Amino acid sequence: MAFKPEKPSIHGETPDTLGERLVAAGHPRYRAGQVFEWLYPRRSETAETMTNLPAGLRAWLADQYDFEATALVQRKASSDVTQKILQRLRDGSLIETVIIRAPMEGVGQEKSRRTICISTQVGCAYGCKFCASGLEGWKRDLSVGEIVSQLVQVCRIEDKADPARAAEGLASFDNIVVMGMGEPLANYDNLLAALRIVNAQWGFGFGARRVTISTSGVVPKILKLAEEPLGFRLAISLHGATNEVRNQIMPVNKKFPLEELIPAAKAFARKHGRMLTLEFILIEDINDSLEQARKLAVIARELHAHVNLIPYNKVEGLPWVRPSLTRQDRFVKELRALGVTATLRREKGHDIDAACGQLRLQTEKAEAGGATPPPAAA
Ligand code: SAH
Ligand code: SF4
Repeated sequence: MAFKPEKPSIHGETPDTLGERLVAAGHPRYRAGQVFEWLYPRRSETAETMTNLPAGLRAWLADQYDFEATALVQRKASSDVTQKILQRLRDGSLIETVIIRAPMEGVGQEKSRRTICISTQVGCAYGCKFCASGLEGWKRDLSVGEIVSQLVQVCRIEDKADPARAAEGLASFDNIVVMGMGEPLANYDNLLAALRIVNAQWGFGFGARRVTISTSGVVPKILKLAEEPLGFRLAISLHGATNEVRNQIMPVNKKFPLEELIPAAKAFARKHGRMLTLEFILIEDINDSLEQARKLAVIARELHAHVNLIPYNKVEGLPWVRPSLTRQDRFVKELRALGVTATLRREKGHDIDAACGQLRLQTEKAEAGGATPPPAAA
């Protein structure tokens, strides 16, 4: 069900691939380098603005390439520190990108840590029982250009909001987390090609160590990622410390149970010599018992992993409940008492439906029902 756009996205190219096409069309190869200076450091929105290129080449670029494979549809600012951005692809599909600002102690908002959370697929085939992205299944993978364009759009928003930091571009972000819609490792090749562009000096020059890929546990791809020369960070969505609990809420566990997932995670950590993160959504009476906390502690210690606890974020139409604050605290205290480093993310942006896939779902429902579409992005 691959989508074939009218024109390829310029953001899916590299200096090599663009160079080849330039030469084939009768333009000098070295022009590719100039195009990339415009695309990333200066974030040109059209070929027309690339003023040191000959007019003929600008016209060729505009004719051959899509400069806006993703377009802003809606922005929702939360009362706290999260901004959710809905982007529309050329086939009408919607994806979500989130900017999270975590203020640093003792400094103003402008010095907060900024993280971008990106999507890799439209929908998701993995069908986790608690997740809005999985509710309506997988529609398609994002292309390389769509993944990169998503980041370019975020930069454009930030440039307008904060001109003083605009010149820093993506460098002014502290982290990229691949935790939006979709299972990143199920779109492995496109994701990795996009992240290489993000990392390249001619691209965003964004360090691999500042990129975290989150997976529900696609074991063969974890092993493949471990072999990549670029050392991206890995987060594993565990959500259950036993096969019994994982099987109940994550169908992927039937294919790749804990006895395969844990050794794969260990192999990754050993290869990159760096700490893994285990994500654990707390859902009442499903995985929030002290027994689960103790079993999770055993896994976390074996993997030398950090545990990130996320109180379940309500999804309309699903039966799960967020545990009380007391139960959340009891769980984190048990982990810490057992020597595990754990954070309890009183998640940011609850009020803007920040959990995976929820904003898209609401907008699609509203549009299908003929309701007023969301306002265009400012
Ligand atoms: N598919 C990948 C990455 C996208 S999901 C993965 O599963 O890891 C990103 C994170 O959001 C995952 O940890 C996922 O479990 C979590 N998530 C999904 N639905 C949620 C909800 N309703 N409340 C809180 N976290 C949720
Ligand atoms: Fe897919 Fe991740 Fe949602 Fe599971 S939690 S359905 S893997 S996006």
